[in-house]
Amino acid sequence: MLLPRIFVVTLVCLFAAGLPVRAETACRFGTPPTVLVEEGDPHEIGSRLLKVWEVEDNPVFWSETTPGSEAYSKFRGEVADLDIETDPVHLLEGSSIENSRIVHRNADDWIGPAGCLEMLMYGHQHARMNTFTDPTEFGSFILRSPDEERLRVYFYTNNQDGLGNMDVIVTPVLEDKREGWDVLVALHSHVFHPGQPEINGILAPSEPDADFHANLHASLGLREGWITNGVHTVRMPSSSFDDFTRPSGRGEVSNPYE
Ligand SMILES: [Zn+2]
Repeated sequence: MLLPRIFVVTLVCLFAAGLPVRAETACRFGTPPTVLVEEGDPHEIGSRLLKVWEVEDNPVFWSETTPGSEAYSKFRGEVADLDIETDPVHLLEGSSIENSRIVHRNADDWIGPAGCLEMLMYGHQHARMNTFTDPTEFGSFILRSPDEERLRVYFYTNNQDGLGNMDVIVTPVLEDKREGWDVLVALHSHVFHPGQPEINGILAPSEPDADFHANLHASLGLREGWITNGVHTVRMPSSSFDDFTRPSGRGEVSNPYE
């Protein structure tokens, strides 16, 4: 059957412009992740999980659109029910370390509501292990493909309240970097610990975190270091990495006061 001429012209124009048929507006990965490492039951010491989603780089991922998933809604429902402090500046005032002071001075520029990607991953981990009964952290890298069309979103957790050595997640990111992927963001969580002001969802890097970010900038060209508590996220530009206090020893990712 011959297509009406106007329809053919429209199709040609769409393809010529490289436009997707339907832009995704929902905050969701849409495809299952590839599991790279899965060892042990989540509640077992020494267990760990590493997976990666590869998705089209859609603007919704960088927006504040809330995921439709039950996992994240459940977390926010619990935050509301517990009636805990979530103001990120007030929380920073409970932390005595110098790095918290640095973020406090830059809070207006660096801290904002958690975005789609952080909310997706936070909800995922909260559904696996509840923040308020089994507080655990996750770490992530977000990379953009050489053709700037796709994202790789790595997700890692050792199911502990402190991630420790990150070599297992850095290794595949190094490989991607060699293949031309742009390492946009290193993200990890600092979860709420109501009643423990020094570690209560503090959106500032510990000294080992600061060291991790600076080293990744030097080795991978990391652009930003993010820390989220699931409600807000601090996004530190690489130009700030040298301002933070770092330890003299080898860096591992941890809560600010560990
Ligand atoms: Zn940390």
